[in-house]
Amino acid sequence: MAFLCVDIGATNTVIGTGKQDFETVEKYSTRYFFENTDELVEAVVRESSHELEDLEHVAVAAAGPIDRAKGEFYPPNLSKESFNLREMLSGYGDVKMMNDATAAVAGEYYYGRNSAEDMIYLTISSGIGAGVIVDGEILEGWGGNLGEVGHMEIGKDGVKCGCGGCDHWEAYSAGDRMPLMAEQLFNRNYKDSREIFEKQEIGDRTAEKVIDKMQECNARGFENLINLFNPEVIWVGGAVAQNHFEKVVEEPFEKVEDGLMNQEPIVEENSLGEEAVVHGLKAACKGEFEL
Ligand SMILES: [Zn+2]
Repeated sequence: MAFLCVDIGATNTVIGTGKQDFETVEKYSTRYFFENTDELVEAVVRESSHELEDLEHVAVAAAGPIDRAKGEFYPPNLSKESFNLREMLSGYGDVKMMNDATAAVAGEYYYGRNSAEDMIYLTISSGIGAGVIVDGEILEGWGGNLGEVGHMEIGKDGVKCGCGGCDHWEAYSAGDRMPLMAEQLFNRNYKDSREIFEKQEIGDRTAEKVIDKMQECNARGFENLINLFNPEVIWVGGAVAQNHFEKVVEEPFEKVEDGLMNQEPIVEENSLGEEAVVHGLKAACKGEFEL
């Protein structure tokens, strides 16, 4: 039995294939992946020890809402309204679909360095989302779309969110939204979130205020997750968190204590890095859990 796992992120897509474990894992830009799907899948399989015909299980995760009945994915950050992932990949085997943060938490649970029975995987990247395991059960919710925690109302300053809402966690802390928050609240233009972090390092007062707002919201976000799900471990991944772990995760986490009704969990950088999602998909292909 060979499997094919595809993690479609807002920016990058990771494709992995193997039999017992991954033999090949490659990363491409998501736009390029959509334009050259078959070519890229075939190239990845050619690098492994099996043939296309040996593929039996296919699992795909996407950074955005999915409709499993139709096989559709509705990307929040790409120009097209929806993609039928099942149609795109059905030539390779039986296609399973998952939310990406849910796949990531499954990856950590089955193959990561800590298999606590109660854990959350939180991604802070161009958006914010969570995958949740409670009592050893992967929570998927209706249609598999549980975990849109980035759209919890957390701020108080009227900052617009990409979804059309207001004061959501993402509006303050997602990589794509931080420059817009800086513009709306402090009337200052930064070209991206990286520039805000860089300027804060060299004493830019506005950048400091932007980082303070982000940290305040991350502290509230952590409190909400802990009070809701009572995790033993919170794994944090996603490019913004990985690149600025101290500022995005550790410093805000020091401020959560006052708002907690239950025990403080361990908070760490996720152990499988950007391959957590494909590892979770591999677990689904290998039948570790039912979708
Ligand atoms: Zn929102």
